[in-house]
Amino acid sequence: MSNLSTAAYLVSSVLFILSLRGLSHPSTARRGNFLGILGMTIAIITTLANPGVFSYKEIGIAFLIGGLIGTSIAVRIQMTALPQLVAAFHSLVGLAAVFVAASAYYNPSAFNIGTFGSIPMGSLIEMSIGTAIGAVTFTGSIIAFGKLQGFVSGNPLVFKGQHFLNLLLGLGIIALIVKFCIDQNQELFWLIVAASFVIGVLLIVPIGGADMPVIVSMLNSYSGWAAAGIGFTLSNNLLIITGALVGSSGAILSYIMCKGMNRSFLNVLLGGFGGEQAASADGVKDDRQAKQGNAADAAFMMKNSQKIIIVPGYGMAVAQAQHALREMGDLLKAAGADVRYAIHPVAGRMPGHMNVLLAEANVPYDEVLELDEINRDFSETDVAFVIGANDVTNPAAKTDKTSAIYGMPILDVENAGQVFFVKRGMASGYAGVQNELFFRDNTLMLFGDAKKVCEDIIKGLEN
Ligand code: NDP
Repeated sequence: MSNLSTAAYLVSSVLFILSLRGLSHPSTARRGNFLGILGMTIAIITTLANPGVFSYKEIGIAFLIGGLIGTSIAVRIQMTALPQLVAAFHSLVGLAAVFVAASAYYNPSAFNIGTFGSIPMGSLIEMSIGTAIGAVTFTGSIIAFGKLQGFVSGNPLVFKGQHFLNLLLGLGIIALIVKFCIDQNQELFWLIVAASFVIGVLLIVPIGGADMPVIVSMLNSYSGWAAAGIGFTLSNNLLIITGALVGSSGAILSYIMCKGMNRSFLNVLLGGFGGEQAASADGVKDDRQAKQGNAADAAFMMKNSQKIIIVPGYGMAVAQAQHALREMGDLLKAAGADVRYAIHPVAGRMPGHMNVLLAEANVPYDEVLELDEINRDFSETDVAFVIGANDVTNPAAKTDKTSAIYGMPILDVENAGQVFFVKRGMASGYAGVQNELFFRDNTLMLFGDAKKVCEDIIKGLEN
């Protein structure tokens, strides 16, 4: 039986790896998702078939409650709210790691790791590190959830000596872990948990709105390591492998996003990058008048353009405008224009958000280009059609050192001959920074819901 379950776990692990590989491109993502589901189904069945399970009643009840809650959330959740949902789920993984470690500490014989007070050193190290990572993930994810959901201010909370305090707490936790591994004292165990809870909060509060994407993927990575920690405590190889896969892929994604946003990876790990700058930059009012156009103007101009680049952002997702947008793009192509889509690495509210929506609307993959593939082409483009995007086009990122988004690469839409901004009003984007492009000579604002504006432009193109 044990050989059989080892083999089944191995199959699951391979399926998880293939799933990650599939998820790396929109054209293979569906297959990747399916392989992941298959891997998880095999893993669950194998675990339930383990002779060590002596009561299915509790498992069944937990399965039913969790399954019902999960299904009802999955059915109702808006795609734009996925980042906060992911953050909330990460917090649960973190808390589970703390609970499993606490159970193993108080009842080690159930886990085959000695008896209370005489747990082997190796298990104590695994248990205490897993607890610390789990506790950091728990409170860090709760703060991230609060910021993304708007319960906690998205503004960075910075204070003097913050980095020093983080360092002190980090060293304190290491010292507590060493002492706990020697003494096996329960006060020390809970002190590790408490200090890690505090550092989890301190790592996330200084992060400003525009930098949240990196934090979400970083917490994803932490939750993976916390799960690997649970795997060590439970001596479950599959959980160790899966946790390490999530942990390392989350870390790689964070690294890629840091590069995309021109942020230091080390600063993310230590918490609080860019916070000092962000504090002074937000919410600047501007009394200038922006030029306003309408759908008919936009349809006329684009019909007579050769090169058009569409820049989608969060507003497109809110309005679910992707299908109307594709239809508009098709009509423009039929009229002879070269139409392409420019994707910023943090456009929307989750990595790959825009790619998923455009793929759902059957926009051909070869028309969808990443920032570094297309950014130079704006200067040779007749029209940049910015639909529900704001921060990712804001030149303050290049010029204003006090801005929360300073240093982030942006799509240089202002270099196009004509820029259309489709949005409902003059509100700023997620980072809360005024976009000076709205007042430029070559900008026309198209106020309205993104889907409605696209539908009106389609009517104009068809006439
Ligand atoms: P922004 O949040 O900067 O701007 C979106 C704009 O869309 C708003 O200014 C809003 O203006 C407009 N909008 C909202 N609803 C509609 C609608 N129904 N129709 C038309 N327009 C609408 O989005 P970007 O995509 O440019 O930038 C993403 C931001 O989110 C970045 O700051 C990024 O760091 C952050 N972020 C990204 C994550 C990721 O993983 N991608 C995760 C977390 C945060 P108005 O209200 O006037 O209509």
